[in-house]
Amino acid sequence: MLTDYLNEWKDELNICIRCGYCFEGCPIFKDGGWELDGARGKVILAYGLLSGELEPTEYVAEKLYQCTYCKDCIEKCSANVSIPDIMTAARADLREAGFTYDSHADLLSKVTESGNIFGKELKGPATEGEVPVLLGCRFLERRDDAERYLEMLRKLGIEPVVIEDEICCGMPFGVLGYKEELAEHKKKFKERFPHQRFICLCTTCAFFISKSYPELEPVYVIDEIHKRLPDADLTELGIKTTYHDPCNVSRGMDMVDEPRDIIDWLGAELVEFPKNAKETECCGGGGGVLVTDKPLSTRLAEKRIRQAGELGVDHLVTLCPTCELNLRNAADSTGTDVEVRNLLDLVCDSVL
Ligand code: SF4
Ligand code: SF4
Repeated sequence: MLTDYLNEWKDELNICIRCGYCFEGCPIFKDGGWELDGARGKVILAYGLLSGELEPTEYVAEKLYQCTYCKDCIEKCSANVSIPDIMTAARADLREAGFTYDSHADLLSKVTESGNIFGKELKGPATEGEVPVLLGCRFLERRDDAERYLEMLRKLGIEPVVIEDEICCGMPFGVLGYKEELAEHKKKFKERFPHQRFICLCTTCAFFISKSYPELEPVYVIDEIHKRLPDADLTELGIKTTYHDPCNVSRGMDMVDEPRDIIDWLGAELVEFPKNAKETECCGGGGGVLVTDKPLSTRLAEKRIRQAGELGVDHLVTLCPTCELNLRNAADSTGTDVEVRNLLDLVCDSVL
């Protein structure tokens, strides 16, 4: 098998001393329990493909696609080995070798044809203003919510510019190993949304764009809200909630305190998960696992929502719309009596 993409990560793969600090917190290891489920096992598989000691098989591909990109392993690794980037390279090589999934092709053709992950014609609530705002596919689909978020930003002194026909940031191509298609998609994205500095409403867009478009300067909306909320007129919410740190927020963007400050300023009582902040547990929604292995994604979300159910809270708030969706579905399937909401909704409740 050709390993052009993995070859770019050769040094990183050689740094790994197989110490195993990374596997204990890996959600896939906790779910499956076998070495090859965990982070270290996945690095060893990638190394085997690169060195040619391992032949690619359906089983190897399955293990390398069972990673949610939660980044717990990066946090634990003293050598800072970026396992999700290695997984992306391995996936790109596997795909070149013919190991493909129909579910991936289906999702990516939706993005190519319609511009969004839903494969639907979705129009943004176009507005004239001063500050460009990118909604992202998931908020584009939740148009009423998006309009409310824009109204909330106006109340906080930001006049948003939204275009009607924005397209996906390209994250699905990135995580599923479709590197050439991502390069093409990035060109289209920048033609459609020709701003260099802009606010992202979606966690995943903010993280993915900051990592994959080094020439752009996305600003995560929570940074702006955090700056402006102390001067706003707020209504106390009086709810008891826990907060699920999305991995792209706490570990990806190093943002732990700001959402907690906001929850406090809104007059909500926060009850923390035992595993929170940089130690947050995965909701199962990342890394393409939602389309590659839905049952695995669901099991991880159900585990997290059951933990929330044991905290005696009435709400779980989070930021990432994919975490939100996965955890809400898990609350329904497990019968957990916790209302899952986006922190942006709570800000709207208080500000509007
Ligand atoms: S913690 Fe880092 S060095 Fe240790 S096995 Fe994991 S990736 Fe390799
Ligand atoms: S990113 Fe998360 S799921 Fe993937 S190997 Fe690391 S700890 Fe495991």
